[in-house]
Amino acid sequence: MYTTTVHGAHDVRFDDLTPVSPGTGEVRIRPAFNGICGSDIHLIENPETSGYVLRHDADGNLAMPVGHEFSGTVEELGEGVTGVSVGDRVAVFPFAYCGECEACTRGMEECCERPTDLPGGLSSSVTVPQRCVFPLPESVDLHLGALVEPMAVAWHAARLAEVTPEDAVVIAGAGPIGLGLFFALRAQGVEKVVISEPSTERREVAEALGAQVVDATASDFSAQVRALVGPGRPTVGFDAAGSAPAFSAVLRLLGLRGRMVVVAIHTREFAFNPTMALLARERSILHTYAYSVADFREVIEAMAQGHYPTDGWVEVRPASELLDAVEDLTAGEGSKILLEI
Ligand SMILES: [Zn+2]
Ligand SMILES: [Zn+2]
Repeated sequence: MYTTTVHGAHDVRFDDLTPVSPGTGEVRIRPAFNGICGSDIHLIENPETSGYVLRHDADGNLAMPVGHEFSGTVEELGEGVTGVSVGDRVAVFPFAYCGECEACTRGMEECCERPTDLPGGLSSSVTVPQRCVFPLPESVDLHLGALVEPMAVAWHAARLAEVTPEDAVVIAGAGPIGLGLFFALRAQGVEKVVISEPSTERREVAEALGAQVVDATASDFSAQVRALVGPGRPTVGFDAAGSAPAFSAVLRLLGLRGRMVVVAIHTREFAFNPTMALLARERSILHTYAYSVADFREVIEAMAQGHYPTDGWVEVRPASELLDAVEDLTAGEGSKILLEI
């Protein structure tokens, strides 16, 4: 039994684990698959600048659990747990929102004022509160279950942007979040969508999944986008790339009162002039973060309806290959890697 912990920059260990018996209202789960997220890579490479609230052991040494995109099977129920059974396949909502603060009562669990820490998913066993456990329907397997979390990030962004089928949308970036936006919008009947992406390989994967794609580095980039989603300018842009050029290129394209939605993590500051970029067309910029309980539930429903094909962008490797997988992802190879536990 192990749990994966970051003890320092480039110091990740599979530490011994003693499973925790579930207390009242808790569920013990055996994780099956855990996806590697860009934020995990930041955490492993440089914990201090990763943006995570770091945890430490009793001696004050860094001991930060790894893994927040995971599925698993229920092994044991604590007292008072109803609606979940031993043997159920589940996805785990990876932070324990309090359920009582203003954010939680408004259905904005992602902004909970008093969240509590959960164990990392890249472990042989986790014990979590029942409110974080989401049973998967028959047609959603454990691979898809581990994708609920990243797909919920995209679903949430699409919801907050209030996209309707009349909108014309540009998504910058064909990584997992960009593809997740495409799947979410397609599931919601939005057809005028184009993904802009500099990597040929990622464009091919997106195209095979049914997306319209444009080379982000093409000299006639705007003309190509408008040819695909026009005749007018796009009304909504998503930054799922996290790069200044991608953000600026999409923002510049938006029409009157266009909404630019940033869902990517920007690790570097960059300058832009809001007057030039926003004023003349009354454009706005919105930032979205994580997902609510409702988003998690809606993604699982959309998965059950078959809206989330995994061809070409999801790969499974043994958990022991964590560091190789991180290296490959850093080098730009692969898209979403699920580690089998
Ligand atoms: Zn993540
Ligand atoms: Zn709360």
